[in-house]
Amino acid sequence: MSTVGRRLAAYAPLLAPPLVGAYTGDALLTAQNAEPTRVLAALHANASPRRPAPRPSRPVVVVLVDGVGDAFMARAMERGTLRPVSWWRTFDTGLPSLSRPAYHALFTGVPQAVAGVGNNRHRGPARADTMMDRVRDAGGFVAWALEGVSWMHDLAGRSSDEVRWGGAAHDVDALAAMATRNTLVVTHWVTTDDAGHTHGAASVDYAREVDGAMRRASALHDALAQRLGAAGFTLFVGADHGHVARGGHGGPERAVTRTRWVQLGGPTRTHHEGVISASAMAATFTDALAIEAPREALRCAAREAVTSDCAAITRRAEAVEPVFRATVREGRVRAAVLSVAWAVVLLAMAALGGTRVRRALAAMLVVLAGAVGAYVLLGPGFTLSAIGTRGAYIARSLAALTAGALVAWAAVGRRTGARGREVLWASAAVPWAGVAAAGGLAGATVPGPHVALLASTAGMVPTATVLAVLLTRAITKRTG
Ligand SMILES: [Zn+2]
Repeated sequence: MSTVGRRLAAYAPLLAPPLVGAYTGDALLTAQNAEPTRVLAALHANASPRRPAPRPSRPVVVVLVDGVGDAFMARAMERGTLRPVSWWRTFDTGLPSLSRPAYHALFTGVPQAVAGVGNNRHRGPARADTMMDRVRDAGGFVAWALEGVSWMHDLAGRSSDEVRWGGAAHDVDALAAMATRNTLVVTHWVTTDDAGHTHGAASVDYAREVDGAMRRASALHDALAQRLGAAGFTLFVGADHGHVARGGHGGPERAVTRTRWVQLGGPTRTHHEGVISASAMAATFTDALAIEAPREALRCAAREAVTSDCAAITRRAEAVEPVFRATVREGRVRAAVLSVAWAVVLLAMAALGGTRVRRALAAMLVVLAGAVGAYVLLGPGFTLSAIGTRGAYIARSLAALTAGALVAWAAVGRRTGARGREVLWASAAVPWAGVAAAGGLAGATVPGPHVALLASTAGMVPTATVLAVLLTRAITKRTG
């Protein structure tokens, strides 16, 4: 074996703890979409029966402007760039304030925590009846105009639907033409969200994208009125979530969770006070088509209903609620038990493992304290909204964790007598704290934005420890 080969072989075991962290972090992201089977069973058992409905005569067009919060929509209304508004209401998108979970709530009327759709890793069709299913059952046709993200179609599309990709989503004449052939047209504009992630909601770039989207929505209204007549369609414009000033969403901040849906065109201008769950929009969309709400919807329409049966929806919500609450309780107990078990395992190792193990664990706790302290001071933040772009979030988190681990290891950790390799192995225990907290909730409900963040950040601690130990060694060699 060459010298380089021997060196690599010597360092290879050091990679194991970081790989453990990467693996648990990744597995937890997937686990946050585990099906809450008992809740879903209760939902399905209480579904409304299929009822024959007449085919809707007036199409509904839904424009989802990704990543534009309530305040920005309000400003566009004030400036008149979003017009003519006939109805509007403010909504709470729910947690996590991420796109795929939000689309699921908008299409089914089932909030994301109940459906167990925890992040954009969700795969496959919606877990409940969708408004698109209602349209098809009434003999109507569904069409999609998507800029590039397939998530909406993944949830509720069928091979029989008309689908346009790319530029067609921004082409108001093409969209208006789709509305002449279809009953429900859904279009998804994502450049606003891209600008939010890259530049932040406080940026000029974001404001420009939002302004362009609002003007385009108004132009779509005019194009529809030209083809179908002023009263020949219903046009809704709204969003899945907003963005924080420096970019990012997923957390509980108002800028992120408050969204607005408006109807453009229509005889009178009305507005409903009060903030309600965005999942109320599913029944609002179907109501505009004069068909049944999604059969498992848990929220009544956001305005006076014409056709959807609010009493039936309320009964279903009351039937599912106790099952959901019980499941969440069980999940919390499981997460607490697993967290205690994690601590007990560490204490048992310290008690039974001898001096070297005790030293390694003590040094690991010192390094962890340093890493956490530096994350508090220098890290990107404490909610999922801290993830503006994935790369920037990982880079900043890792830099903060490493800086803290380095100082703690060099200043205090080494005095425990532990060797670098030992503290590194001990650091592999940290990601399991995230598994206990977030993994314990899997299949019960979606973890809150803080727990979800803890899970992925804990996975980075072993990597930060490796870097801290290697850097300390390099610095000591140079100065020594
Ligand atoms: Zn986004």
